[in-house]
Amino acid sequence: MKLAERMSRLGTETAFEVLARAGQLEAQGRHIIHLEIGQPDFDTPQYIKDAACQALADGFTGYGPSAGLPQARERYARYISETRGVPVDPAELVITPGAKPILFFGILALVDEGDEVIYPNPGFPIYESVVEFVGAKAVPAPLREERQFRLDPDELASLVTDKTKMIIINSPHNPTGSVLTREDFEAIARIAIERDVWVLTDEPYSKMVYDGEFESILSVDGMKERTILVEGFSKTYAMTGWRLGYGVMPAPLAEQVAKLQTNSNSCTASFVQIAGIAALDGPQDESEAMMAAFKERRDVMVAALNELPGISCLSPGGAFYVFPNVTGTGTDSRDLAKACLEEAGVAVLSGTAFGAYGDGYLRLSSANSIENIQEAIERIRGLLEG
Ligand code: PLP
Repeated sequence: MKLAERMSRLGTETAFEVLARAGQLEAQGRHIIHLEIGQPDFDTPQYIKDAACQALADGFTGYGPSAGLPQARERYARYISETRGVPVDPAELVITPGAKPILFFGILALVDEGDEVIYPNPGFPIYESVVEFVGAKAVPAPLREERQFRLDPDELASLVTDKTKMIIINSPHNPTGSVLTREDFEAIARIAIERDVWVLTDEPYSKMVYDGEFESILSVDGMKERTILVEGFSKTYAMTGWRLGYGVMPAPLAEQVAKLQTNSNSCTASFVQIAGIAALDGPQDESEAMMAAFKERRDVMVAALNELPGISCLSPGGAFYVFPNVTGTGTDSRDLAKACLEEAGVAVLSGTAFGAYGDGYLRLSSANSIENIQEAIERIRGLLEG
């Protein structure tokens, strides 16, 4: 088959491959503990499911406007205004099937062939993949353990060139769990404004900040007109399979992103958008209890990992991942991730699944019970102590 040349530049997510291999081992009768998955192990709160059923009964079964139903755009815009402290107009918001399409459409709408886009490395693999796909150059901004895996603004400034079109940031961060500070955001904003660069801020883990308060670059003066903010319901309300997310951006860009949606998905499922309104309007206690569970698991996981020979692990400030340094084991992180799965029956990801600067690390998700997390770490201990 002769595919279009651009397909050779499109990447993927290793997590899905590891999940498939773990499934094969399970089919052979092996017991696998899953710490590779980037989705909450909780079910969607019942009141949200009820709202979706009611919306179906009420007839929200047809196409809607590409940018989203007016009442949903209004409600989600109000949520962003309240949580980011900046007024957001519904015309500045586009609703998509998950947050991911906003990454795709935002890059497609703004970035030309030959442009450069700076992205965090290690980072969500889709950034590099989509940037390369559109024929631009993906420029890695290394996230280093010495800075608790927070982007270094001085290094960022040195990476900006006349070709830089966009800087991608992600806080709380997948895969390291790092959380940028107010000073980090102000420093990044100064660079973006001075060099006239867009910022795409990927914030699906905004409710998962365990130490301190969530902050967004959107609230820094002068940023709103050059920012695409990416949010969604997948992580906060355990709604990964519903596919509901949205982007906030200047209204003229929102029109273009809606046009990309017309050309691809047409619109986001109408009853799902209505369920999203209910998610925001309803009681937040279940979502808050999930976040508290993730914090408790983080503490258990980090403490247990730090007891293992050759492993050291920072305590991440957010998201539901930990990113232990495994260089002291003397085993390459890819080989170690493979051995964890094949020999110990624990599915984890090598840091390299998130880019070259993830070498020497593993990513473990805390989307599993404390009991299973403890069992998984004991199995890894058995593997390391051989
Ligand atoms: N951005 C980051 C950093 C993520 O980790 C994910 C999902 O894993 C997404 C975006 C996409 O989320 P959604 O399910 O809303 O498309």
